Amino acid sequence: IWENSLQIIKDNVSLQSYKTWFEPITPIKLKDKVLTIQVPSQFFYEWLEEHYVNILKKTIKKELGPEGRLEYSIVMENNQSNTKPYTVKIPATNRQATKNNPVTMPIDLNKDKSIRNPFIIPGLKKINVDSQLNPNYSFKNFVEGDCNRLARSAGFAVAKNPGGTAFNPLLIYGGVGLGKTHLAHAIGIDVKNRFPNKTVLYVSSEKFTHQFIDAVRNNEHNDFIHFYQMIDVLIIDDVQFFAGKAKTQDVFFHIFNHLHQSGKQIILTADKAPVEIIGMEQRLLSRFKWGLAADLQAPELETRIAILEMKMYNEGLELPKDVVEYIAYSITTNVRELEGALISILAQASLNKKAITIDLARQMVDKFVKNTAREVSIDYIQKVVCDYFDMGIDTLKSKTRKREVVQARQIAMYFSKQMTKSSLATIGMHCGGKDHATVLHACKTVNNLMDTDKRFRGYIEDLKKKISLQ
Ligand code: ADP
Ligand code: MG
Repeated sequence: IWENSLQIIKDNVSLQSYKTWFEPITPIKLKDKVLTIQVPSQFFYEWLEEHYVNILKKTIKKELGPEGRLEYSIVMENNQSNTKPYTVKIPATNRQATKNNPVTMPIDLNKDKSIRNPFIIPGLKKINVDSQLNPNYSFKNFVEGDCNRLARSAGFAVAKNPGGTAFNPLLIYGGVGLGKTHLAHAIGIDVKNRFPNKTVLYVSSEKFTHQFIDAVRNNEHNDFIHFYQMIDVLIIDDVQFFAGKAKTQDVFFHIFNHLHQSGKQIILTADKAPVEIIGMEQRLLSRFKWGLAADLQAPELETRIAILEMKMYNEGLELPKDVVEYIAYSITTNVRELEGALISILAQASLNKKAITIDLARQMVDKFVKNTAREVSIDYIQKVVCDYFDMGIDTLKSKTRKREVVQARQIAMYFSKQMTKSSLATIGMHCGGKDHATVLHACKTVNNLMDTDKRFRGYIEDLKKKISLQ
């Protein structure tokens, strides 16, 4: 019967899906028109129910007649040893499955979705856990931008419905200082606000590792596992730290499986995409793929400005607009540095009772940006030039051949060539898609004009002061 059913299914789903979801199924029993099939995990069962219930329904009815029914039997991994899988059947509503007392719930083939009932392991009580959340890292304090939109909205969805979205686990990844930790806390805080009874725990993977090592040393291995299995929303920060740590990965794997099977939410962060984490076991990486991996990108200019403005607002501070813009233009790849520069400018100003000026900002930003010989960016040059000639950046980058615009554009190209290491082609690209010959021509034109036109030279010298870092 199952063979026939498989054949029907095979004709109706993609080969990939067939291999992933149907090949691992073992038929174990057929009695009174009820076919019991064994699936490898709770997750597997849920997936089948969610995506393939119709095809399964049709197939079974075709093979067994209209009274045909299907039951699942789920193989669970043994919490303690992982060696001997044991079988637990789907628990019926309001009844609890235990290791020794599996109960079955017939899958109602007339209903598209059966009730999901997490397994409740007996002997575990609710515990009070300090969530270790930093209240400052809230959603409210997290500026939204294109750079973080997906991760933020996935995080928000998870917070509203922890364990109940397709984003489980939710993996947030991205370079240093881009807001992974902040966002992870924000989700935890929001869950706590919405569901005060849920147990939320934030832990760095370093701490997790050390706790685990201590637990093993003190013979508290099981307590460690039990503790983590009681968490409703587990947030583990910087999981790339698990790389190469086989024992920690092993215990995490168990905890992960347990939580996932029980419909608990797992949130992870990493400094790179999962596939790029070297030394991470395949079985963990494949678990990470069950949910959503959302990346954080370096923030775009508007977001950088918005972040600075929010920080100032929160601190009750004001800074001249050009200073804020200068910081935002100069520090492009890391929000932590952006904040650091802001704070050090404020500190310096108050320490020396100096006014906060663009010059002070320059000095401090220079200290902050680690790349030794810091260079101004093409974007910044364009901004200064545009401000100077009272022109929008869009105009500068447009195709227009108007004389003033052409001249401003040439000047921006000239400074970009002089003051950055960018290639002619790159500069051209930044100026509305011009080729390298155009940039070269612009540089020559500016040089010639400086020799022949005094007023023009005045502009250039003025601008140079404004752009250069002194
Ligand atoms: P990561 O964990 O990715 O290294 P963090 O979450 O520690 O980065 O963020 C570094 C700093 O930048 C934190 O102070 C955080 O509040 C701030 N930050 C990052 N992204 C944002 C954002 N979108 N809005 C506001 N602050 C942010
Ligand atoms: Mg972090």
